[in-house]
Amino acid sequence: MEAQEFIRKEKGDKPILAICYDFDKTLTPTDMQNQGFIQSLGYDIESFWKKSNVFAKENDMDQNLAYMFTMIQEAKGKFDLTKEKLQNFGKTIKFFKGVESWFKRIREYGEKRGVRVEHYIISSGIREMVEGTPIFKDLDGVFACSFHYNGEGTPDWPVQVVNYTNKTQFLFRIEKGTMDVNDPDVNTLLPESEIRVPFRNFVYIGDSDTDIPCMTLVNSKGGYSIGVYNPESNDKSKVYKMIAERRIKYYIPADYSENSEMDRFIKAVVDKTYLNEKIEAKYLSCKNEYEQYRHDTSDNEIEKANLISALEDCTNFRATHMTVKKLSKKGGWTVAQANKLLRIALENSQVKWILADTDVKEFYETVLATAGADVALAEKVRKAINP
Ligand SMILES: [Mg+2]
Repeated sequence: MEAQEFIRKEKGDKPILAICYDFDKTLTPTDMQNQGFIQSLGYDIESFWKKSNVFAKENDMDQNLAYMFTMIQEAKGKFDLTKEKLQNFGKTIKFFKGVESWFKRIREYGEKRGVRVEHYIISSGIREMVEGTPIFKDLDGVFACSFHYNGEGTPDWPVQVVNYTNKTQFLFRIEKGTMDVNDPDVNTLLPESEIRVPFRNFVYIGDSDTDIPCMTLVNSKGGYSIGVYNPESNDKSKVYKMIAERRIKYYIPADYSENSEMDRFIKAVVDKTYLNEKIEAKYLSCKNEYEQYRHDTSDNEIEKANLISALEDCTNFRATHMTVKKLSKKGGWTVAQANKLLRIALENSQVKWILADTDVKEFYETVLATAGADVALAEKVRKAINP
């Protein structure tokens, strides 16, 4: 097969906060199919799901593949199931309070605070339905179940099935910017400085068991996993279970309106991300500088530097004699090393007091022979080793 070029998302110059959302019961109070599609087939909600789940069980089939199959089968003879039709069902989806203005509001808040906010849906629902919703234009990506359409525009095969465990692959795609579902580099180990969105800058918002692998991953890697519950029923049983099992650290009612608890919490996460990334940038620059130093410096030079530091810290004569013995086997001092050794001779009393001892004296004579060493320092040491 010919090697394929994949388009990668760029890292950019601002820290990125990736907010990932489950869809059903997280952004909308019930499953998306329950809001018009199932009824249009002449089914009640419960019977449709029962039929699909029995089909899954009887065939050892993934439940999402089974419901996609059932959607196609049951639409036959009732209406033409097309992409446009599914998008139209998306238009009738009802959202929790504030969802429709949420994405733009939080993105704009991020812009003001120097953080690029990205919004991703990761759902086992139907992508085409999400495409029909008014929020679609505000999203950076939608990973969901989706159909392939034949020449007549009818679904004939799934192109994507998103179940609860493979939901996690999309977090890694966002992390690395490998958004194409066929891009194998999602599994490539990248150096920390090339990671597009580190996991500490992930937020995952979900409502139930199907979100557990994503929540656990985000939580364990220092991100923010948030369980939501319906503010009308106020039923916290699922979020209590998830917090008990350490899947989430936070739970918040699914109200996304301005100044709601969710709004204030996410804005605080944006603020923290801005400051935290400044600190992380310093860590990365130290790490990169050290790695460059290590790359440019031989093992012998590292050993020399460590021995000079050890001499500087000597607190007894025995340690000084032993360190001098090791240093005597080295040699080839740079001007900076020679000057440091001369300064140690004058400033560390454990070295200074035994400068005239034969081993220490012989060692310091080699240091004094370093061309370019500080003349004044050298003169003082010369006097001290020849009292
Ligand atoms: Mg859900």
